[in-house]
Amino acid sequence: MSFSADVKNEILSIENEKECCRHAFAYGLMLFSRGFSHYDISLLTENGRIAGVYCEMLREVCKVEPRLVCSEAGKYKAEVTSSADREKVLSVFGYGKSGTSRLNWGNISDECCKNAFLRGAFLTCGTINNPNKGYHLEFVVPYLHLCRDFKRFLSDYDDLAVTPKSITRNSNYVIYFKDSESIEDLLTVMGAVSSSLEVMGVKMYKDMRNNVNRRLNFESANLDKTIDAAARQIDAIMYIKETVGLSYLDGELRELARLRLENPDMSLRELGDSLSEPISRSGVNHRLKKICDIARSLKK
Ligand SMILES: [Zn+2]
Repeated sequence: MSFSADVKNEILSIENEKECCRHAFAYGLMLFSRGFSHYDISLLTENGRIAGVYCEMLREVCKVEPRLVCSEAGKYKAEVTSSADREKVLSVFGYGKSGTSRLNWGNISDECCKNAFLRGAFLTCGTINNPNKGYHLEFVVPYLHLCRDFKRFLSDYDDLAVTPKSITRNSNYVIYFKDSESIEDLLTVMGAVSSSLEVMGVKMYKDMRNNVNRRLNFESANLDKTIDAAARQIDAIMYIKETVGLSYLDGELRELARLRLENPDMSLRELGDSLSEPISRSGVNHRLKKICDIARSLKK
């Protein structure tokens, strides 16, 4: 099952306890479904539970009996067939003879109802990507004015610190979120707490993996640097050996030059510890620089 379907199942399991919230939930569910107008009030979905709850809300909140059919392709279509019933539904949500392409704020004036409205809206027009494949949550809205109103609703939402973006897609208006924080917050206010925790968990895992990768890259860059330095030192020592012989170097430098030749992958610290009179890492570095300087002056 898709992550979106999991989230919707979690939302479906939440009880809208107060009557005002059930009204707001029904409003969100119907306003953003396939049709919500004087000519068409219907829902098309592959999710049987959403079709079920849509019909239940029509019966309970609007006192209207819908027709529900399931196609062979497994799609559910719920519909209010008579025009008198459609008028009844619209009047329940405060729409008279006027158009239905605007949000009626009167249906969501109580603070408690906003979450319920959002739940209904997400069930019919929302989708969310699996967070493992990238953060994306969207609402697809059929009308421009409704899209603007809903965007304003989301922006002004008290418990949400989100800035929704929108685009046009196939003559629909899409409001979307691409950052994990907004998505976690939206899921949380809708009450989909375990889905929200899942997004958070994925985010933490990704952050951790990025940190590890960054460190590995850093360490391998350092390792490359060490190997480059050792190669330069060995070049210098070989040049001295082949031109004037290692005996050209004084005792301290000669011992280190031999040690370096025999141990190309020893760290500076290890070289220092292996000398007959051990010295520090910076001491080794200093002597190796001297050797490289000598080679350079021999080349001139
Ligand atoms: Zn309420």
